[in-house]
Amino acid sequence: EKSGHQWPVFYSGGMNDQVSRRDRIARRLARALEQQELELYYQPVLCLDTGKVAGCEALARWYCPQLGWVSPGEFIPIVEQDPALSRELTAWVLETACRQASEWRQRLAVPFWISVNVSGNELHRPEFPDLVEGLLHKYALTPGALVIELTEQSMIQDVAAAVEAMNRLGAMGIQFAVDDFGSGYSSLNYLRELPLGKLKIDRAFMQDLGGAGVGREVVRAIINVGQALGMTVVAEGVETPEQAQVLCDLGCNEVQGFLMRPPVPAGVLEAMVAEGAAIPWVWEEKSAS
Ligand code: C2E
Ligand code: MG
Ligand code: MG
Ligand code: MG
Repeated sequence: EKSGHQWPVFYSGGMNDQVSRRDRIARRLARALEQQELELYYQPVLCLDTGKVAGCEALARWYCPQLGWVSPGEFIPIVEQDPALSRELTAWVLETACRQASEWRQRLAVPFWISVNVSGNELHRPEFPDLVEGLLHKYALTPGALVIELTEQSMIQDVAAAVEAMNRLGAMGIQFAVDDFGSGYSSLNYLRELPLGKLKIDRAFMQDLGGAGVGREVVRAIINVGQALGMTVVAEGVETPEQAQVLCDLGCNEVQGFLMRPPVPAGVLEAMVAEGAAIPWVWEEKSAS
């Protein structure tokens, strides 16, 4: 503590509300995990070559009886401040997704992957690769069944350590995706150093994709860089047929967004895959040209 000087503290009502909501979320979360209030929803990712579901992203959902729906955008940053809670949530997300992957593998003819979001701190924990390896064995998952999404920030905070952990996991057949690409202070240099199989373009780039501005050229450049480095490029936040069409024309590999389907409970995604759901407008256009 610094000197005895007392800074005056002014609270606006708003600040007070925020502090107490944060506290309440933090306090409720640990119990929420125990009481199984959390659930994973799955958002399909479609391949632009086949028009079909290639895989899905697992996204945490929490309905708290006291607070109502709390979005991951709000509770994940709170979880990340508490190492024990963060470890617990990560273990739960990974186990739930792996169990789901093995169920789908038995029930659905078409194999597809599930990607999970993992925070930087978790990747850097020495026990993390063992945790993943244990789950792969427990659920007898084949290489390629699990993708781990990491943000640029979580990898570049310690590139050497990230590469080591990623190489260990890569040897077990795990693929890595850089999430929200372009949203932070991207460095193209680290893309070469990290064993990344996928690049997910941040949804902010979808906004002026169809317009007359430079938006389309920026996305074209990202797709080219990703593919030149051997990565599968995924566009996130695709909301309109026009955006999907432009992405298809630019040679983007996969699309994810509300246009295809928002994140849905496991059963809804399963039905979609079983029906062989596809994106007709893109596919028809491609076969015609
Ligand atoms: P993210 O990994 O980038 O996930 C994509 C987010 O975009 C999801 O928000 C998804 O619902 C939303 N989204 C998908 N399509 C569209 C679209 O067409 N338009 C718009 N406007 N949004 C779309 P969600 O589920 O609220 O998750 C927010 C973030 O929270 C995720 O961003 C991810 O960083 C984090 N998160 C979610 N679940 C987990 C988890 O299990 N573990 C960790 N560590 N983070 C998670
Ligand atoms: Mg993600
Ligand atoms: Mg993302
Ligand atoms: Mg995000």
